[in-house]
Amino acid sequence: MPELPEVETIKNELLPHIVGHRITSITLFWDGMVRQPSVEEFCSRLIAQEITGVARRGKYLIFSLNSGNLLIIHLKMTGSLLIKPASAEPDKFIRAVIHLDKGTELYFCDPRKLGVMWLVEDKNAIVGKLGPEPLEADFTPQVLAQRLNNRMAPIKALLCDQTFIAGIGNMYADEALFAAGIHPVRLGGNLSQDEVGRLHQAIQQVLWSAIGNKGASVDTYLRPGGELGTAHFQFQVAHYLGGKFCPVCGTPIERIPVRNRGSYFCPNCQPEL
Ligand SMILES: [Zn+2]
Repeated sequence: MPELPEVETIKNELLPHIVGHRITSITLFWDGMVRQPSVEEFCSRLIAQEITGVARRGKYLIFSLNSGNLLIIHLKMTGSLLIKPASAEPDKFIRAVIHLDKGTELYFCDPRKLGVMWLVEDKNAIVGKLGPEPLEADFTPQVLAQRLNNRMAPIKALLCDQTFIAGIGNMYADEALFAAGIHPVRLGGNLSQDEVGRLHQAIQQVLWSAIGNKGASVDTYLRPGGELGTAHFQFQVAHYLGGKFCPVCGTPIERIPVRNRGSYFCPNCQPEL
């Protein structure tokens, strides 16, 4: 699933291709991805709108329109957004095309058809309950410590909880916990001040590193131009690239379920106590 670094890369790389462009029409091959309003209203309210900006919040992409409305997209498990010339052949898994002026098209491809689009006036209707952005200046170690206070849930589950912190999923939670030397089932409220400080630093470090590498091309993730990201080559424990032995101490990496999500960790570098 695309997480913060993948969605940030998509946002950055879409921007120069779509901002200032006007939507000329929409083609939907799978109506189920329009969550709000009705399909008819969604299409009619988008047509002739100019895209004035693209932002990211958590794993959501937020497109500003000159009407003041916002087109919000969540790629879910397998969605990708691709910039194509108007002459391009349709992809097999194409679910929607946003036709733009000057011969540009934005393809929404999604093998599993789980991706979602909303057209809203107030973004908080969709993203209002998200936790803090981990790369913003106001996300300090103190903020993380406050949020962890008294939380008796496994730290891995908290990191993947979008209302606790926005944008992190299975891959980067495992990477951040490894970098911080914290076992995934440790209870959030039991982390020491030193551990919280290490975790804060590790979260920012793994996310910035992955953005620098344009995201991780595991599963179906592609950048808008169709290129792959390379962040997965930096993964230390996330299972997508071997990860059989700890790169630090050589202990075999273990996998345990934490709230039904496979979690990879080094039992030596990330002790359970
Ligand atoms: Zn180790």
